[in-house]
Amino acid sequence: MDIILVVNAGSSSLKFEVFTIEGGLSRLMKGQMEGIGTAPHLRVKGADGAVLADETHDPAAVPDLPAAMNHVGAWLREQHPGTLAGVGHRVVHGGPDYERPVLLDETVLADLERYVPLAPLHQPNNLAPIRAIRQFRADVPQVACFDTSFHHGHSAVADHYAIPEHFFAEGVRRYGFHGLSYEYVAGRLPELAPDVAGGRVIVAHLGSGASLCALSAGRSIESTLGFTALDGLPMGTRCGQIDPGVILYLLDQKGMTVHEVQDLIYKESGLKGLSGISNDVRVLLESAEPAAGFALDHFVYRIGLNAGMLAASLGGLDAFVFTAGIGENSPDMRARIAARLEWLGAKLDPDSNARGDLVISTPDSRLRLLVVPTDEELMIARHTLSLIRA
Ligand code: ADP
Repeated sequence: MDIILVVNAGSSSLKFEVFTIEGGLSRLMKGQMEGIGTAPHLRVKGADGAVLADETHDPAAVPDLPAAMNHVGAWLREQHPGTLAGVGHRVVHGGPDYERPVLLDETVLADLERYVPLAPLHQPNNLAPIRAIRQFRADVPQVACFDTSFHHGHSAVADHYAIPEHFFAEGVRRYGFHGLSYEYVAGRLPELAPDVAGGRVIVAHLGSGASLCALSAGRSIESTLGFTALDGLPMGTRCGQIDPGVILYLLDQKGMTVHEVQDLIYKESGLKGLSGISNDVRVLLESAEPAAGFALDHFVYRIGLNAGMLAASLGGLDAFVFTAGIGENSPDMRARIAARLEWLGAKLDPDSNARGDLVISTPDSRLRLLVVPTDEELMIARHTLSLIRA
């Protein structure tokens, strides 16, 4: 049985999913190696939820991402003797040039390495497993799928910062991220909500990372994320939009190092920083602490503000779509956000919202409210299949 492996590599974890190709793409299993270099733990579950692996490993045997990739590869070969037809990787940055997924070769890899300075925390981790696989299985085609590509069609006006033009030429521009999620959701709309799919839609990807994307007839025209995945909405641990003067103040007046500021705005801010309790919305919803409530109020307020901004980019709004961990699973957060969209015509149907139906607005709501679960891995598997068959 031919399979496609989808890889999503982060700094200390390697997530993967396996799809069979026969009879259309279908998911076989989903797993991750966590605690790479510290307390490696491989967990894999089948599509039916059955536990296929739950193993701890010696940190010396899994010190880094290439080692983790080799481990997962060996485990897969043992468990699944089928043919590996291709590997699809989530790669955060396609830079200014890559407007669609691409088959990897040395030239492309060298290009993607040039984008490391644009995403120093993520791009090297995304590229490491590609190199590891090339070393041992050079025969297997690999595909890079970018978080930026879907936003490639943004207008120059939308993509610029108001700084001297030569910075734009060297890559300092608003790229936008979560593109694979938005592409998946945009692809589902014609089938799920044909009357609004061709119109003006905001998709809210609300997970541990969070952003909004403005879709005009299914194409991204604006995003709340920009040069990095820090901008726009406050997130689990990232600050979201912040006056650049605050960063200058921290560096200049507080004597913080660049590394300390980086840690602060990526790992200690957002819901975690504001609440002082947790980055997890579930924990904050259950907490009786005023700071937990305040962090959630701020999050909802900023989503409302940013929705207004994106509605302006679209010249009005026909639908608002909730997706990702918070958007798909929390009726409470959806209700709070919907209340911020009333001026745009939103009327929530509390019963459909509680059930998590596809449509959660009332029939007479001017703004359609939808819940559409995302599937970035399936999107990567599809791109991979189409490129290896081309
Ligand atoms: P990632 O961005 O890491 O892929 P997800 O899209 O799965 O993550 O989102 C993870 C976040 O979703 C969690 O941090 C949590 O805050 C939130 N979440 C998941 N389930 C619920 C729920 N039932 N209620 C509220 N928030 C939830």
